[in-house]
Formats: sequence, C-alpha cells, structure tokens
Amino acid sequence: MDGWETVIGLEVHAELATATKMFSGAPNRFGSAPNTDVDPVSLGLPGSLPVLNERAVELAIRLGLALHCEIRPSVFSRKNYFYPDMPKDFQISQYDRPIDVDGWLELPNGTRVGIERAHLEEDTGKSTHVGGHGRITGADYSLVDYNRAGVPLLEIVSRPDLRSAADARRYVAELRAVLVATGVSDGKMEEGSLRVDANVSVRPEGSAELGTRCEVKNLNSLRSLGRAIEHEAARQVDLLLAGEKVTQQTRHWDESDGRTHAMRSKEEAEDYRYFPEPDAMRSKEEAEDYRYFPEPDLVPLAPDAEWIERVRASMPVLPAERRGTLAAAAGVDLPHEGVALLVERGQDGQALAAIEGGADPARVLVHVEQNLAGPGGAELEPGRLVALIAMEGAGQLTATQAKAVLAEMVTSPASPAEIAAARGFEAMGADALDVAVDAVIVAHPGEWEAYRAGDDKARGKLAGFFVGQVMRATSGRADGRAVKELLERRRA
Ligand code: ADP
Ligand code: MG
Repeated sequence: MDGWETVIGLEVHAELATATKMFSGAPNRFGSAPNTDVDPVSLGLPGSLPVLNERAVELAIRLGLALHCEIRPSVFSRKNYFYPDMPKDFQISQYDRPIDVDGWLELPNGTRVGIERAHLEEDTGKSTHVGGHGRITGADYSLVDYNRAGVPLLEIVSRPDLRSAADARRYVAELRAVLVATGVSDGKMEEGSLRVDANVSVRPEGSAELGTRCEVKNLNSLRSLGRAIEHEAARQVDLLLAGEKVTQQTRHWDESDGRTHAMRSKEEAEDYRYFPEPDAMRSKEEAEDYRYFPEPDLVPLAPDAEWIERVRASMPVLPAERRGTLAAAAGVDLPHEGVALLVERGQDGQALAAIEGGADPARVLVHVEQNLAGPGGAELEPGRLVALIAMEGAGQLTATQAKAVLAEMVTSPASPAEIAAARGFEAMGADALDVAVDAVIVAHPGEWEAYRAGDDKARGKLAGFFVGQVMRATSGRADGRAVKELLERRRA
C-alpha cells in the first residue's frame, strides 16, 4: 500500500430507541417471536395510514445536535419497490430533504469527520432464504418476519474524510458512544441496532481527486469493518497497479474467506434485500427506479425553534467532554486509551468520584479499567475503591492482593480491610521486606553484581528476577514496587 491513500465514507444505520414503530403503535423491540410485533400499518394492510412518532423525531434532533448539524425542515418520500419484506411496496424515507444536515464528529485522537446528513426512515422486515447459501438465488423457499418492518431508523452519512481502517473503526465506536450517551439508540451491533456500509476508494498519495469507490455491505462488527476496508483497499490498488480500472459497484464482505465479492448484477437487482440495509440499490441510475415522490399521507416536518431548544437543554454531557473532564482530574494527556475506554463503558463517573475522594488517580484508572470490567464492577461504590487504594498506597496490600480483594468487594458488602484480614493478607512490614531483599541479594551474588554494573535494560531484566525471588521467599506478600525501590537504594 506504499504510495497509496485509502479514502473512506461510512453510512451507518441506527435503530432508534423508541417504544413503538416509526408510523404506528406496534412495539419496537428485539427478540420477539416472528410476526408478533406487528399491526395493520407494519403489514401495509389496505386503508392503514402512517402517524409520525414524535419521539423518533426528537431522537433525530438529539443526534443532530450532538453531531453539530443544522436541524432543517424535512420531507418524507416514498421509495417504491416490490419486495416481500416491505408489504406496502414502498419504504418511507427522507430523500432529498433530510432532517440533520452538515455536521461533524471528532474522534478521540482529534480527527474531525464531516457528517453530510442524517435522515429518518423506516426499517424493512427481515427475509431468511432457506437453501442457496442464504441468498435468494437458488433458495428453496424464503421466510419473512415483519417485526422489524417500520422500526425507526436514522441513516447517518459521513463525508469521505476517513483515511484508514483504524480511523473508520474509531468513527463507528465514537458514533456508537454518542448514540448511547444521548439515548438515541442502544447501539448494539450484535442485534442489528447499528449497521454499517463502507464506501472505499484509493488514490496515489498527494492526489487531490477522489478515486472510484465501491460500497461494501454486510459489516456486522468493528472487526469486520476494519478487515473489509483493508482488503478492499488492497484489492483496488492491485487492480490499478495491473493497469485496470476500479468499477463502481456494491460488494459483499464474506467473513469466512476474508474477501469482498461483487454481487452479480442480476443478484444485485434481485437480491439486494438479502442485506438488511434499505439503501443497497441506491446508485444514481438506480435511484430513478425507485420513483421517489413526497409521501402524500404525511405533512412536511418542521420542528419549531422552541422544540429544538428544549431538546438542546436536555442534552447530556457528550463522550468527548467526559473524556476531557476525567483526563484533567487524573492528570493525564488526551488521547488516552484508558480514559476513552472508561467513558465508553460509562464508568467515568465512578472513576471521577474515586479521584475526587482522594484516591491516587493512576491506581483508580488501572483498577476501574482492568479490575472493575466484569459484572457488577460498574456498581461498586466509589468510596469503597478509595478505601482499597488507600490500603494499597500505605503498603498494606500488594498490587496482586489489591486485585483479589477488589474482585471480592464487587460481590461482598465487607470492607477491604475485613476481606484482606479474612484472606490472611497481613501487611508485610518494611523491616520484614528489608530482610527478605537482603537475603535474596546474598543468595545471588552474581546476579547482584550484574545488576549493579548493568545498563538500564539489563537492570530492568534483573530487577524482575529479584522481585520474583523475593515474591517466592515471602509467598507473594511483598509489594513488587517496594522491592524495586529497595534494590535501587542498595545499588546507590
Ligand atoms: P449512495 O446512494 O451511493 O449510498 P450516499 O450519498 O448515501 O450514496 O453515500 C455516499 C457515501 O460514499 C458517503 O458516505 C460518502 O462520504 C462516500 N463517498 C463518496 N465518494 C467517495 C469516494 N470517492 N471514496 C470513498 N467514499 C466516498
Ligand atoms: Mg446511501
């Protein structure tokens, strides 16, 4: 890939966290028995009419504000096609006048990605083709589940501002964090609440023109997204190096062989509903086939300024600001992986409270990140973490012992001191540690000489050796950090 630049623009479909569907009162939820969360509107029965879900509009405004978009008057259109998973033969979607326009999202590493638009639409039902490798072509028969038909969606379209698979993953992770923090979506990729299409092109480094793009579908995890982009960019570079051209097309990511595959054009026309994304066919030529026109059963949507301001006033603090607050309190510089992770997991408040309660910030970050990641960890009362870290700081617990005590604190109401006592983690006094270190030095004169004479690297290695020996001699009760300090003191 030397000398080539990858250009990526992402289309993310987010299912909205409403109680009911976009245009009717049928429940919007995941995992019900097939065809039970339906009503005349989701089934497209004759005479049924759509009624817009106010909460879905509010959530679209929330996301628009979080992404610094302009909130515009918008229009719903009919996107016409026949397919069994959309029984009324059209999908209602905002087409040329979307609600959220022209914003940006800043990644934790400082990269700013433009947002072209985010528009509201309804999800389709779900087809399952039996036989024929899950595709309609060659299938024996198909099953349709209408539970998802009419679920509110926001399609969030980025500008082609991303330059690497890693940044594309960061973008989706950050967008998900914003969606979850604002309550717009539950963001669960594994349940299809968040679905990503990646538009990928390549160009010679330094070129100002965009290359021809391919749109890659079926990216169901961050891992697939990253792998698919890397594979697709390399495929395009190979084509160009061989003197061939990249053809604009829709491609399908196959997780099992780790490649993208062109859909045969017949398949693309007939089988696009195999993919959950309603937009699979939206190339410019094909757009005409959809015969878009304004939905006559809905009025244009024009949220008034007062409503928008009410939504703005109810916005939570967003992940970027929360990262800044935690980093400042912990005295670390951004970008910081641990801080980003705690915010993503919603444990920044817990860490912040422990730091404000006087605990050593470095230990707080490590404990919350590594030792409070499991079930119940987020619920640990910050004051109890402060007490544990105080014992650790005073040398009453080694790092290993502190970890064990903390694990028990998650399920037990006992104090760290009680748990430590019950486990026999008595404090190893400074005198006893001195004696233990001396004994180990005497027992290993060669290593000690090498430690004293060695450079930083050799000394680091040998320090590890001595810590191991002291640990063995004290049955793991020594604090590794304290041992290293004693070694240094003796060397000088
Ligand atoms: P379509 O109807 O083809 O899905 P959209 O407007 O919905 O078109 O989305 C186009 C997406 O492709 C946007 O995310 C945009 O940033 C991206 N894109 C456009 N041109 C390129 C390019 N040359 N390389 C990579 N991505 C691109
Ligand atoms: Mg699109």
